[in-house]
Amino acid sequence: MHEANERALRKQLVQASHLCYQQGLLVALDGNLSVRLSGELILCTPAGCHKGMIEEDDLIVVDLQGKRLRGGGEPTSELAMHLACYRQRPDIRAVVHAHPPTCIAFTVAGVSMARCVLPEVVLTLGVVPTLDYDTTGTQALADRVGSAMLRHDAVMMDRHGAVCVGSSPLDAFCKLETMEHMAKIMKAARDLGQLRDLPAEESQALRSMGLKRYGGPPAALAMADQPGADLPEACTGCSGCTNPSDEGLAPTAGFSVARITNTEIIPWQRQALEREVRKAISEVLG
Ligand SMILES: [Zn+2]
Repeated sequence: MHEANERALRKQLVQASHLCYQQGLLVALDGNLSVRLSGELILCTPAGCHKGMIEEDDLIVVDLQGKRLRGGGEPTSELAMHLACYRQRPDIRAVVHAHPPTCIAFTVAGVSMARCVLPEVVLTLGVVPTLDYDTTGTQALADRVGSAMLRHDAVMMDRHGAVCVGSSPLDAFCKLETMEHMAKIMKAARDLGQLRDLPAEESQALRSMGLKRYGGPPAALAMADQPGADLPEACTGCSGCTNPSDEGLAPTAGFSVARITNTEIIPWQRQALEREVRKAISEVLG
């Protein structure tokens, strides 16, 4: 590796680390970031460092087996996750692992983020799956993440956090930032009453177009011309819910809001309350 090139990659990795902290995508000593220096050498953040304050000289160099070759700090127990990604896909140049709070809340609540809701996210990321729970820092979790990366550039680990891969630290960071932004929008829409999926045909067309225009995992790219491209079955079949309708799409909720305007009414005056509810509903339904 050329020295000037390594200096540039150190700078990029530190910038991405700082951005993760500044954007609230991790706190305290959470998360870790890495970039491939050459085929066998990985530059990464060491264990126990604050990503908001890390500097270029704090980074360490390891090989693909996780052995430290240069630098003062110790490799993190989550390094195995990064190495699994690099081993699975030679095209991956950078890995970012962080704890985006809204995305994690979705996994804690057991609400799927694997839905086609925002066209730009379907174009660039497809759907973001949530992987089954495994103990942090274990090889089992690393293997699970590594195999998921064959089909995805961004995944959520149940109750833990995100792993995003890309062509550079900034590219992987952007995927992480996009995920959290999407999760915030999905949560806001749920709070407002409903989350409407894109029509299945539109999701399929967007995904196929996105893979060709922006690229993606090689295994996903190979599917770009297939119906549904790399979208999972649940997505094209029932929009991520477990209740597919005859059309193959989740039934829309079709909420309406009825407001009871009589402020005199006391909730335990049952008959009067029923009368007011009926009146409010008939006003809404016409
Ligand atoms: Zn973590």
